Formats: sequence, structure tokens, C-alpha cells
Amino acid sequence: MRFVDEYRDAEKARTLAPRIAALCEPGRAYKFMEVCGGHTHTIYKHGLEDYLPEAVTLVHGPGCPVCVIPMGRVDDAIHIAGQPDVIMTSFGDMMRVPGGNGSFLDAKARGADIRMVYSPLDALKIARQNPGKRVVFMAIGFETTAPSTAMTVLRAEAEGITNFSIFCNHVTIIPAIKAILDSPDLRLDGFIGPGHVSTVIGCRPYEFIARDYGKPLVVAGFEPLDVLHTVYRILVQLAGGRAEIDNQYARVVPWDGNLKALRVINEVMELRPYFEWRGLGFISQSALRVSERYAAFDAERIFRIPGGRVADPKACQCGEVLKGVLKPWECKVFGTACTPETPIGTCMVSSEGACAAYYNFGRFSRERVKEATQR
Ligand code: SF4
Repeated sequence: MRFVDEYRDAEKARTLAPRIAALCEPGRAYKFMEVCGGHTHTIYKHGLEDYLPEAVTLVHGPGCPVCVIPMGRVDDAIHIAGQPDVIMTSFGDMMRVPGGNGSFLDAKARGADIRMVYSPLDALKIARQNPGKRVVFMAIGFETTAPSTAMTVLRAEAEGITNFSIFCNHVTIIPAIKAILDSPDLRLDGFIGPGHVSTVIGCRPYEFIARDYGKPLVVAGFEPLDVLHTVYRILVQLAGGRAEIDNQYARVVPWDGNLKALRVINEVMELRPYFEWRGLGFISQSALRVSERYAAFDAERIFRIPGGRVADPKACQCGEVLKGVLKPWECKVFGTACTPETPIGTCMVSSEGACAAYYNFGRFSRERVKEATQR
């Protein structure tokens, strides 16, 4: 297939559905995790559950970078934004993420200069245009966006821009998957592997999942037929008694990743000993910080941040949702106290958040309807 319409062809999906069902062992239930929030959106936007047999359940994982930012880091960023002459810049997704002390939008309403940007280069442009200000970029994302942040730091250094820094919150996907595999809460049969992050890291880092845990992972694209075909390929492995790493998204993802992007990350950043993930707690070596060589661009070194830990609101069950243990609608405040307009947790804010996906597209999903009729 070459054109995007072909990956959205309902007829092809209808043809694939019985082939998927035929691979399921009678009496066996299968649970696959889609690691990436982009896949969650594809699944609910296109009603893909309707093409899957009852035996197959899809659960979402921690692959939404905004969703996993703990409240304490939001408070730290707001603290930086409140310092004299600071312009804080951020992707739009982050603006409504609640910390213990409100969100960026709340801080902006209180007078902080917080601006939405589309890329770190936009933030650098603001620094160039405002030499009397200290411009900070709120850097978030997996290895997908870390290269553009790192490139921007290199550009700032090359241009001699000294009033620009980043508040680095980049996280890495492999330790999070390992934490889920080691969690006693969840039994999984396989993974729909994250497509975007794999364009940078490739497929090799996943090999331990098949080797050490005996689970298949198939890196998937984001069109509806990509996801259905990935489920098919996972089931083919399971039916053959195999567990391997496979690449359904080979049209975009090179097996060895993007070596140039990895090089630029390694040039500017290094692994933190540990980092707190919302809902998953502290995970060792799971996030990046600015390396010593580029300390002049590190907001964490320039500004004294409180660095406190803030517990999630009692009603919030984002942690369970991020681990795939709960479906969003099973959270007590889903769709009532917590909506995209009044989010309590991060999963309702981000465009990749599982709760936002369910709220916008999945409220009539197969499982929810089934659960409601059983009540
Ligand atoms: S409904 Fe709101 S509080 Fe509950 S898990 Fe989702 S985002 Fe978190």
C-alpha cells in the first residue's frame, strides 16, 4: 500500500477481521498493550475494537509524554516561570496540565509570561528577539522529540545565544515498558510497539522483551489498518508459539533507528539516575537531563527549583490508566468532575491521553457498552 486512503480502507479491515479471529485459540483471552497514545486514538477514533474478536482486549500504556509528567515537575516549571525576566515557552499540550499549584494557564492568568510554541526553535527565536529576558523551553517528550531539543541547544551555542535554556523533562520508553513487564498488576500477551519513538531508537532496544519476557512486540504505524495488521502479526506469532520483535511500520521505522538523532541526543543529554513518572513512581535511568558540557543551557542549574514531590489528587486514577490496569471510564471522576475542559489528571489533557481519547471517541466503545448492559 502506498497512499493513506488505502490504510483506511474499511473493506480491507472487514477482510482482515475474520483472519484475526481465526488465529485466536478457543477459550483463550488475549491482552495486548498499545504503548503509544497515538495508537489509543486510532483505535477509538476508527472503532477498531469492532473488528476484533471478544477474546482480544487492547489496553493502553504509558506512551503519552504529557501524561507521565508528575505534578511536582509542573510546579517546578511554574516556579521558574515566576522568576524575574523569565519567558517560559511550552507546547500547547502542557498548558492545561495541572500541577499542585495550578497549570501554566493559571500561572499565566496570575501574570507569568508563558507562551505557547510549536517547536524549540520557536523558543530560541523568542530568546533572539528578547535579549533582556531569560527564555526557558519546557522540554517534554520521549526520544521522538529529544533530538529537536538537543539540536536547538546546539544551535543556541553556535549562535552565542546566552539567554536561552531548557527545562528538560525528556523521558525514555524502554525503562517504562520494563517497569510494566515487572509489575504484578497486569498480565499481557504482547505489545503494539510505539511507532513515533521507534523512528529514533529503532527496534533493537525491544529485543529483551521477546528474549527475557517471552512476549511479542510489533512496532506499528498509526493508520487503522496498521493497527489491525499489527494485532494480526502478534497473533500469528502466538499461534506459532513464537515471541519476536517485528516491524509493521518498516515504511518509516529503520531497524537500527536514526543514528544521527541518537548521536545528537547523546551529545547534549545524559541519563538521569532516576525520574518520577506519574502513576509509575520512580524509575531508574528513565529520563534525560542536560549534560555538564551544556550546563549553561540547563534551566535546572540556572534556577533553583523546589524539586518537591506532589501527590496526585485523591480522585485521580491516572496511574492505573497509564499502566493499563483501569480503563478510563472506570475512573470515578471520568466524564463528570474530569473532562477535557476541567481536567483533574493529565490523561484528560493531552491529545495523546487515553482519557481524552475515550472521552472524544470511545464513550460507546464495545467494552463500555458491554459493561453497562451487564449492570
Ligand atoms: S478521568 Fe481524569 S482523573 Fe481519572 S484517570 Fe482520567 S485523567 Fe486521571
